[in-house]
Amino acid sequence: MTIEIKNLTKIYGQQKALDNVSLTASQGEIVGLLGPNGAGKSTMMKIITCFIPPTSGEVKICGFDIFEEPMEIKSLIGYLPEQNPLYTDLYVRESLEFTAGIHGLKSKEKKFRVEQMIETVGLTKEVNKKIGTLSKGYKQRVGLAQAMIHNPKVLILDEPTTGLDPNQIIEIRQIINRIGKEKTVLLSTHIMQEVEAMCSRAVIINNGRLVADDSIENLSAGGSMEKKFREITSLQ
Ligand code: ADP
Repeated sequence: MTIEIKNLTKIYGQQKALDNVSLTASQGEIVGLLGPNGAGKSTMMKIITCFIPPTSGEVKICGFDIFEEPMEIKSLIGYLPEQNPLYTDLYVRESLEFTAGIHGLKSKEKKFRVEQMIETVGLTKEVNKKIGTLSKGYKQRVGLAQAMIHNPKVLILDEPTTGLDPNQIIEIRQIINRIGKEKTVLLSTHIMQEVEAMCSRAVIINNGRLVADDSIENLSAGGSMEKKFREITSLQ
C-alpha cells in the first residue's frame, strides 16, 4: 500500500472536518475523492501532505509516518493544491528549474527532469513564456509539472480541473490518466464525470465521514454515479 489512512479525525475549533476516516490506495490506482463542498476533502489532502497535523489517527505513505518522517513523505509526494501556487513572473522553464532545485535535484538530473516534465505535460510551445501570460489550462500544466518534478510515487491533486474550459479539461484528464499508470493518484473533485473519466475507484466523504469506497462500476450500478452520489450524500 502506498497510502494508508486509519481512523483519521481533524477538528478545527468546534468544527469536525474529518471523522474517523480510513482508506488505502496502491500503486497504479487513480482514486477519486468525492464529496460536496465542505465535506473534508482538502483537509484530508493537507494532512496527507504534512501541511497540517490531524487531531487523531494514523497516516502512512509508502510506510513512512506523517508524524515521525514528514521529510521522507514530502519527497515521496507531489501535491497540487486547489489554489495552484505559481510564480507568475518566472518563465516556465525557469520556474521548473527553481522547483527542481528546491527538491535538491542537481545539474544533469535537474536538466533531465525539467525537459521530461515539459514534454509530459505538453508545455514545449509555451516554455519560453512568462507564467503570468499563460492561459488557465497551461498554468495548470505548469502546476502539474511542478508537482511531479521530483518523480514522486504519490500525487495528490486538489480539484485539478476546476475553472478550465472543456478542451483543457480533456487534456488535463489525459495527462493524469497517463501519469496514473505508474503512481498512486488521489484527486478530489465534486464533478462525477471527472471520476468516471479518470478513476478506477471512488471514495465519497460527506460531513467528514467516509460514506462509500468502491469501484466506479459498482458505484454506477443501478443508474449512474451521480444518482448514487445524491442518494448517499442526502442520507447523511
Ligand atoms: P472540502 O475540501 O471538501 O470542500 P474542507 O476540507 O475545505 O472541505 O473543509 C471541511 C470543513 O472544515 C468545512 O466545514 C470548512 O469550513 C472547515 N475548515 C476547513 N479549514 C478550516 C480552518 N482552517 N479552520 C476552521 N474550519 C476549517
